[in-house]
Amino acid sequence: MNRRKFIRHSGIASGMILVPVSSLSSCDYKKTQKPGKMSLRFAPFDLQLKHVFTLANSSRSTTPVMLTAIDYEGHTGYGEASMPPYLGETQESAAAFLSKLRLDRFASPFLIEDILTEVDGIAEGNSAAKASIDIALHDLIGKLLKRPWHQLWGLNPDDTPMTSFTIGIDTPEVVREKVKEASPYKILKVKMGRGNDTEMIETIRSVSQVPLCVDINQGWKDKQHALDMIYWLKERGIVFVEQPMAKEAIDDLAWLHDHSPLPIYADEALQRLKDVESTKGLYDGINIKLMKCTGMREAHKMANLAISLKMKVMLGCMTETSCAVSAAAQLSPLSEFADLDGNVLISNDPYEGMLIREGKVTLNDSPGIGINVKQKIV
Ligand code: MG
Repeated sequence: MNRRKFIRHSGIASGMILVPVSSLSSCDYKKTQKPGKMSLRFAPFDLQLKHVFTLANSSRSTTPVMLTAIDYEGHTGYGEASMPPYLGETQESAAAFLSKLRLDRFASPFLIEDILTEVDGIAEGNSAAKASIDIALHDLIGKLLKRPWHQLWGLNPDDTPMTSFTIGIDTPEVVREKVKEASPYKILKVKMGRGNDTEMIETIRSVSQVPLCVDINQGWKDKQHALDMIYWLKERGIVFVEQPMAKEAIDDLAWLHDHSPLPIYADEALQRLKDVESTKGLYDGINIKLMKCTGMREAHKMANLAISLKMKVMLGCMTETSCAVSAAAQLSPLSEFADLDGNVLISNDPYEGMLIREGKVTLNDSPGIGINVKQKIV
């Protein structure tokens, strides 16, 4: 029976999987501490997208995720791995990865540094699966301490940024419709780089004067064309440009950074903490995403490193439930911009958490990552 069938036919309620603690060897427990009582559950779930999501070579109406829960002394922390197909992880790979984790080796969730170091060492990659543990642990620790993470990090919830709403590449009719739908947002993110850039901007400007940022997704091939476009965009109220050229085009990106009248953010050019320093001098800021960087612990380090390098921070997301979006939002007072609209793009969110009020990320005082369970999946 393959992994997927195993998940579907495991006979455990709601597709839940309990890591079989009994199968683990007691000699593996950390010698200085007694065995803990943490246990991990996880369940695959398919997010239903409100609109078909179109990328260069594919369209899709669902996003596969793996929802996790870590139980400890009557408390439960929730986590999530969101796995859009182009990133290479699947529900099967996440289940295989999570099955290797032996949380019972650790006395308590407060050993989060030890636990996440071990998680990172289980296998290369698997960054979304790793994030699903990281988020659940943070949620659990916050609940045990009865504090939300923005408080534990000493961040001011009044300093949260505006969040953008993403307008995908589409026909002018659909783009106008989406812009109207996005009217509560004070900044829109426009996907560009497919040859109809000026049409996209002019279509939006025919119905809205709201500030825009543009995400080229490495789509511009020539640095002079890129610079000409950035000047053209500046005249039309665009406030920054994300990943204008291929991440490998180091010399062109350095030249563009030196000449650009608008800030340029890195996205595809970085994943994790080790990548941050290499973006200095090529970009003005970095886009941090929990699913790429393995979660809140590393995202917090990345944001602080970027700030120490005098770079700007934005927080992005995949299509995700309110679980992962609310986790990212805890960090958002460190960021200039947020692109945390993943949960509003889906119609079957099993959680509620961070809200967007008048376009601004709004944190609540609930402990952990600040979510409530609306529908029990895991
Ligand atoms: Mg991007």
